[in-house]
Amino acid sequence: MSIKNSLRLSLILLASLPLIFMTFLTYILSYNKYLDLAKTSAEESAKKYAEGLETELNLQIAEIEGLSKVSSIQNLVLESYNGVFLGKDSPYYEPAVSLLCDTKLYMNGNVNFYIYDINGYYIAGSTNENAGDWHEYMEYPVSDITDTQIIKSSNINKNTSSIELVTPITVKGTIIGLVRANVTSNYFGSFISDSGDAFILTRDGDYLFNADGFSAYPEIDKDAHKLFDSKATNGYISSNSSSIKDIYGYYYLEEYDWIYFIKQTGSNPQLISTLPVTLLLTLIIILFIAYQISRVLVQKYTDPIITLKNNMAEATAGNLDVKCNIDTMDEFGDLSDMFNHMMNIISTNYNELNESKKILEENELELKKNYAHIEQLAYRDGLTGLYNRVAFMKYAYDVFHRDGTQFNRHAILFIDLDNFKNVNDTLGHDYGDLLLKKVSAKLLSYTSGDDILARTGGDEFLIFKTDYSSVEELEQFARTLVETSALPFDLDGESAHISMSIGVALFPQDGLTISELIKNADIAMYNAKNSGKNSFKFFNSYMEDDFNRRNDLAEILSKVIDNNEIFLQYQPQINVTTGQVTGFEALMRIESELIGFIPPSEFIPIAEDSGSINQLGIWALYEACSFNQRLIDIGYGPLKVSVNVSTTQMQNSDLLSAIKSIPEKTGMDLQYLEIEITESVLMNSFEHNLALINDIKSLGVSIALDDFGTGYSSFNYLTQIPIDTLKIDKSFIDGICSNDKDKCIADSIISLAHKMDISVVAEGVENEDQLNILKEQFCDTLQGYLFSKPLNSNDFIKLMTTSNR
Ligand code: C2E
Ligand code: CA
Ligand code: CA
Repeated sequence: MSIKNSLRLSLILLASLPLIFMTFLTYILSYNKYLDLAKTSAEESAKKYAEGLETELNLQIAEIEGLSKVSSIQNLVLESYNGVFLGKDSPYYEPAVSLLCDTKLYMNGNVNFYIYDINGYYIAGSTNENAGDWHEYMEYPVSDITDTQIIKSSNINKNTSSIELVTPITVKGTIIGLVRANVTSNYFGSFISDSGDAFILTRDGDYLFNADGFSAYPEIDKDAHKLFDSKATNGYISSNSSSIKDIYGYYYLEEYDWIYFIKQTGSNPQLISTLPVTLLLTLIIILFIAYQISRVLVQKYTDPIITLKNNMAEATAGNLDVKCNIDTMDEFGDLSDMFNHMMNIISTNYNELNESKKILEENELELKKNYAHIEQLAYRDGLTGLYNRVAFMKYAYDVFHRDGTQFNRHAILFIDLDNFKNVNDTLGHDYGDLLLKKVSAKLLSYTSGDDILARTGGDEFLIFKTDYSSVEELEQFARTLVETSALPFDLDGESAHISMSIGVALFPQDGLTISELIKNADIAMYNAKNSGKNSFKFFNSYMEDDFNRRNDLAEILSKVIDNNEIFLQYQPQINVTTGQVTGFEALMRIESELIGFIPPSEFIPIAEDSGSINQLGIWALYEACSFNQRLIDIGYGPLKVSVNVSTTQMQNSDLLSAIKSIPEKTGMDLQYLEIEITESVLMNSFEHNLALINDIKSLGVSIALDDFGTGYSSFNYLTQIPIDTLKIDKSFIDGICSNDKDKCIADSIISLAHKMDISVVAEGVENEDQLNILKEQFCDTLQGYLFSKPLNSNDFIKLMTTSNR
């Protein structure tokens, strides 16, 4: 129900309900009061009216009895009695009739009088009509009327609203006739009403003045007749319906053996019976008024609410410009103002929001555009367009989890280009980048299906090989990659070679997570590098131990200088002809507090890989030169000190400046320094290395080519680099006594070197036989256990004390 209707209904109910309730209450109370009153009143008025009636009746009886004694009447009747029928001619007729008429007149015409003779013939009356003879009506003779009696009028005429009084006319004790009075109800005035509301019941059961009596109320009729037996004199009777109309007061007239009834009427019952109607009318009026008032009130209070509601609905539907136009001076007016203010704020905010939304949408579009680019940056390697490490991890993870718990066989291949750093450093980054792109494209052409290829570092690649069928297949795959890389790459018209080392880790046996598999593939790759590069290796647990040791060593190496765990030993070099010490080679030693003595064959490659060789190498240079200067200062020599320089050091710009600073730092002149390089400096970055060697040489430093005969041993190189000394590797010296081929090679090397004005050192000379052969071959210098093992500085000084004296 709407507010409007419920408010209206409430107002109407509020107005009419008390009225209905009060009226009902009043009605109940007054009805009961009335019933009490009506009952008492019925009783009282019955008594009063009955007594009034009795008085009137007695008066009439006295009247009629008086008439029966009047002489004119007696004489008139006597004539008849005596057989003389003069009628109107009788001298008594006229006076008798006029007396009857006068008496009638005296009774206001409400009573008619008639005279009958003893035989029942009518003689005279107060009217002109002949009333008929007595015996025509009555079964008994006039002589039976011995005293005044009341008889039912209906026996004489049909007029029931009257009664008949008869009285005998007696002369000297003899009844000679009778007087009859027809007394109409009017005679009794208010005691007997015309309407039949007051009447009499006789013991015979006849009703006087009202022929119907209680015939309309059979119950009352029964009760009424019983009253004669109850000997009650005064009271009331009412029908069971207890309707207010049905109350009759009664009074027993003992003298006549009648019961007088009078209906209780009057203004009170009227009022009460009309009360419901009055109520209804009042209610209708009240309702009408209430309706009108409610209409006004409802209009006043609900119209603004409805207006507000409609405005609100409109605003909710999206019309933010809606205005509320209630301009009353009450709260509704305030509410309207507030609504408008609120809508104003909302509208402003909405417009601002809309504006921001537009900007946001534009930004979102831009972001979406950028997203692809960002994703490219986040997941792709900028140079090659391959996946990066993040993407690799993500997609490999997806493949792992796509398979659920099912253990499919996967493998990770860790690929590292060999000596790529040299390419970059010596040929430039552009060249390196181009090479990387070519290698990427080549690798990509070998991946298929779910395989994932990523570039994860400078020259590092990862391949996630999914669902491989056998280890043999994987081996074949790795071999293909290694062999393919050995083929020349076409770089802008120039062909380039690059080898690669590959480590392979298998899922699940080599690791259960991607990270673990990558780590182990990395270890296997290192192993491949250490076993000569340009190869592949499958991971096994020994490699991990190796790897861990390498890592431990790398850690130790980074701190050996600070920890004083590094020192040099010196191995003398002897002039073959004179037997004099002409120089010595400085050899690096590390005695770790943690893991003890570490041979250079183990730590030098690690130091090269980790880069700490630069630091250690420079330290060795200073240390060796300082020692040589010390010898010079003591008075030995001057000797030449040979210091090994790793190929890795050649790529480091610090080397040249360190060599330059030696005189200043150690006091030793650079003419007493020789650096030993290996053939590998000629393999990679040849141009750069050659330039560096020339720079060093120009400082007065001698250059020795170490380990000659183990690598390519190309004599061609000898012509290109300014070598002072050639060191024949121990592996040749070992064989010169037993192997003619080795002896021949050594011989050729020495004579060729001499032709090029290069001095020759034989390394690893351990016995006299070797010495003798080398002497025959005119080898210049020898270095080996035959003469001395590498010695500590003090021992070397002792040796010098005895030998070069
Ligand atoms: P290398 O430069 O060829 O050094 C000569 C090696 O032969 C030394 O081994 C030396 O002890 C050993 N040797 C000399 N005479 C004999 C002999 O008669 N019999 C035997 N069995 N061995 C002999 P070492 O000291 O173990 O050094 C191994 C390698 O470590 C060196 O080979 C060199 O390549 C490297 N190395 C040593 N010290 C340094 C250094 O300060 N810098 C660099 N870059 N490398 C170094
Ligand atoms: Ca050496
Ligand atoms: Ca050597």
